[in-house]
Amino acid sequence: MKNITVFYSVFCAVLLSLTACSTSSTGRNQVSLYSDTELNNMGSVSFEQMKKEIAISTDVDTNAFVHCVANAITDNVPTSAHKGEWEVVVFDSEQINAFALPGGKIGVYTGILNVTEDQHQLAAIIGHEVGHVLERHSNERLSASKLSNVGLMVATIALGASEVENKGLWVAGLGVGVQYGLIMPYSRAHESEADIIGQELMARSGFKPEASIKLWQNMSKLSKDAPPEFMSTHPANDTRIKQLSKHLAISKTAYLTRQKQSNMPQCVKPSIIPAPVSKKK
Ligand SMILES: [Zn+2]
Repeated sequence: MKNITVFYSVFCAVLLSLTACSTSSTGRNQVSLYSDTELNNMGSVSFEQMKKEIAISTDVDTNAFVHCVANAITDNVPTSAHKGEWEVVVFDSEQINAFALPGGKIGVYTGILNVTEDQHQLAAIIGHEVGHVLERHSNERLSASKLSNVGLMVATIALGASEVENKGLWVAGLGVGVQYGLIMPYSRAHESEADIIGQELMARSGFKPEASIKLWQNMSKLSKDAPPEFMSTHPANDTRIKQLSKHLAISKTAYLTRQKQSNMPQCVKPSIIPAPVSKKK
């Protein structure tokens, strides 16, 4: 362990002129070669691309439900992570998927709403995805790519070229590669961190943190039959559920504090989430 720390210090010293070495809120060392501005731009570009390529839900009740939960969460995101409004889009797709991107972007697929039973479980998903953004995981992942051979391409893209064939690589680096056929899961360390940060964030936002455990248990059941794509990047294993259970006491305290303020979120899941338009006969 000590050797790793020494290596990390030397490594950071070498890179200091180009980069920043930092620590995540759970105490992990991070190498971030990109500025927040660069990351926010990449997030925005990827999001615009997805909005062009994937149908957007126009169902009023579905949109109201997702926006209600997402807004309650983003109201509690520190402005150091994102200044200004968050853009929330409901994609009309049966894929079980959701994501958040640097630059204040959240995408929720209608398919995942058939798995999340209520506002609390959807808050667990959104909290987790926003957790990846808060901890700047995309920056780390893109930085790791940049430092590897494959990363040279990504670096070239990030350092200026705007219309690039390999834009898919960005998208993968940002964690939304699934629908582009470039599955690149976050590391286990990133997943654990997003789980903890997400659980605290949902609790601070007025959602019951124990719903995160129920959610992953449901996901786990689902993945036994036909694993959805979301599950290939977010395996709902026992370790994950154990860790969320272990952290529950801390998140519960945050929830009880929030409860004292009244005006708790009251987001009602519509009884019917319409099937994607393209699937309707
Ligand atoms: Zn994740």
